[in-house]
Amino acid sequence: MQSSDFHFKKFVRETKFCPFCETNEASTPPEIFAIRKAGVSPPGPGWSVRVVPNSAPRLRIEGELRARAEGFHDLMNGVGAHEIIAETPRHDRSLHELEIHEISDVIRAYIARRVDLKGDRRMRYVLIFKNHGQEAGSHTISHSISHLMALPVTPRTVKTKLITARDYFAVKERCIYCDVLQQERKDGKRLIAENEDFVTIAPFASRFPFEMTVFPKAHNSAFSCMSPGQVENLAKILREVLQRLNHTLGGPPYNLLLQDRPFLRNRAGYWNTIEEDFHWHVEILPQIARITGFEWASGFFYNPVPPELAARCLSCEVGVKQVAAM
Ligand SMILES: [Zn+2]
Ligand SMILES: [Zn+2]
Repeated sequence: MQSSDFHFKKFVRETKFCPFCETNEASTPPEIFAIRKAGVSPPGPGWSVRVVPNSAPRLRIEGELRARAEGFHDLMNGVGAHEIIAETPRHDRSLHELEIHEISDVIRAYIARRVDLKGDRRMRYVLIFKNHGQEAGSHTISHSISHLMALPVTPRTVKTKLITARDYFAVKERCIYCDVLQQERKDGKRLIAENEDFVTIAPFASRFPFEMTVFPKAHNSAFSCMSPGQVENLAKILREVLQRLNHTLGGPPYNLLLQDRPFLRNRAGYWNTIEEDFHWHVEILPQIARITGFEWASGFFYNPVPPELAARCLSCEVGVKQVAAM
């Protein structure tokens, strides 16, 4: 591996006017949800997390869902929701710089929005993700935010995971993720962090250098079923591993993706064993290596940092300069 394998700009916070900062509430579309201090009423300051519709949404909530065929292609209109979750009222804090109780509030906001959107029968899936830094897709916004998109379909990558988990369960009658976790915790080679409720590993055959996956230890298919204690422990482990990533690589861009189950709707033959076979998790994907024609053409990812080495770096056993020299 060479240090030239890494290409990224260190995260730099822009200081121009920001609609997501506290006191600028009137500059966003009307608020959908917020967690505020007791006695403080909306729509002004005094919040810790605030959710608003995206002012330039990729999907719109209004209208009927229309699906049609054009030849053998399936077409669907862009019905859905695209919301922005401001994770903090402060412009000068990234997610890993927030206190545990503040990150817990962000997680509570994710859960509250997912539960609310479940009531919309047109929607099948809620996608929650975060783009931190320019190479991760956050071109114009420096404020620490997450995106939430409610979709009328289950995304293809999630569906592939669901099918793999369902097929494994059909043969073994066990959750594939529980089996992976048992092996990884016993083995320890790719283990990065652990607390009472969560484990973070560098996944086997990681696609991205320093990729991490955070799993709940107890089997559960749905993110929104966490207990208050689990919410706090998720906040703790996210803060810990994001701080380590930041420290190890010096402010890398990354994407954070929640991989949750779809809404359970009553449809014959539809994911009958999903509560037993799927295990929700969070993926953290540093964007520090360029994706080239090889990756697009082959679907394989060239990752110059083996996950075992990434785990040692992120566990602070080996410095990244030593890794670059290996
Ligand atoms: Zn701001
Ligand atoms: Zn499981």
